Amino acid sequence: AEKLEDFTIDYFEEIGVEYIQYQFTTIFGVLKEVEFPVKIWDEMKEGTGVDGSSLGFLKTSQSDMQAIPDYKTFAILPWDTRVGRFICDLTDNEGNAFPTCPRGILKKIISKAKDMGFLFKTRPELEVYFLSDELEPADDGDYMCTPPKDSLHELRRLITDDLIEMNIGIKTIHHEVGPAQHEVEFTADDAIYSADNVQTAKQLFKMNAIDQDIICTFMPKPFREKAGSGLHIHQYLTDLEGNNVFSDKEKGLSDILRWYVGGLEKHAPAISAILNPATNSYKRLVPNHEAPVHIAWGVGNRTALIRVPGYEKSARIEYRAGDGSMNIYLGFAALLAAGLDGIKNKIEPNKPTKDNVDLLTESERKELGIEQLPWSLKRALIYFETDPLMNDIFGEDFIGIFLEKKKKELTELEIAQKNGFESDWEFNA
Ligand code: GLU
Ligand code: MG
Ligand code: MG
Repeated sequence: AEKLEDFTIDYFEEIGVEYIQYQFTTIFGVLKEVEFPVKIWDEMKEGTGVDGSSLGFLKTSQSDMQAIPDYKTFAILPWDTRVGRFICDLTDNEGNAFPTCPRGILKKIISKAKDMGFLFKTRPELEVYFLSDELEPADDGDYMCTPPKDSLHELRRLITDDLIEMNIGIKTIHHEVGPAQHEVEFTADDAIYSADNVQTAKQLFKMNAIDQDIICTFMPKPFREKAGSGLHIHQYLTDLEGNNVFSDKEKGLSDILRWYVGGLEKHAPAISAILNPATNSYKRLVPNHEAPVHIAWGVGNRTALIRVPGYEKSARIEYRAGDGSMNIYLGFAALLAAGLDGIKNKIEPNKPTKDNVDLLTESERKELGIEQLPWSLKRALIYFETDPLMNDIFGEDFIGIFLEKKKKELTELEIAQKNGFESDWEFNA
């Protein structure tokens, strides 16, 4: 079932669904929902009003918003099979995309890509820590360890069962480098559904962990000495027939891929504000923990910001800076827009490198044209505010709301630092 005509009260009764949930995501990445009984489906099936100002979507007091279901996103909630959910787009009363709706912002950039003859495919990798009540790692495992050391393997399996039940494509699941740090890799999908899947997956992780009195966090750097949690985004473009345009028969990697990387590198400082939006994000972007520090790229290079995986038949790139504090719709929109800008303007990236970028000397980096990523949210916001592409992507209303909140966080953190509870503040943020 994926079209409006497929969904009738009879159909819902047949599959045991008694309630419908309309879900959507706020500017700061929080999943929200409104629910109604199946009995009133006919009056609700084309959407429902929500209060945009209580949800933080409005800069001033504008009109109401409508949540309009995307019928392709129907799924039954594994933890409450009486409920079927749809993910929604937010519009104004006339049906125009609401300018601050994250899913709408991503759709807008996807349609720009389409005008240029491209489809955008993404494959995120989600890293997470499982913690005890005392906020300590809930297992003692290490990278790809096996049971009994991998003591939370059952929890991971329950989460995977639910993901699959909700039609989310899974590639691999495994223990990560940190104790109680785990990862799920998704399969590639159209960016819009790929983003929906990340939102759903985060909720599934949390629901299953809570069941076992375990806290689950996507916080970028919960422990200073341990690996941080990234949200790597593998991505490639295809033509409208679905042929990968990052691959080139003769050269392996196409010009389009190289320019796309050029665009990502050019806008990397500005889009940090979107892909690494927490003050805590920048504690992760330090040497020696497989997180990027510099704006570099290379085949198979895990110290670079942009890795071209060497083992793939079909070319793609992995953007390694982002973390789980991002709003995934906005993260995808920022990456795609930056890459398209690179293609449009044939922006050449710096020289690819196989070296450990963190170990290069200052002058070696200079020779390769490698700059540093912003090392604080404060710096990232300055780049964000001064890069004109950000205004094209996100628009004035969004930028106003976003910057106001982020600047408030910087002030709060400064106060927390002065009073010695910085880490408490970040854990609660
Ligand atoms: N946990 C690392 C990070 O912070 C990434 C490890 C990996 O390559 O999967 O990005
Ligand atoms: Mg990983
Ligand atoms: Mg990865």
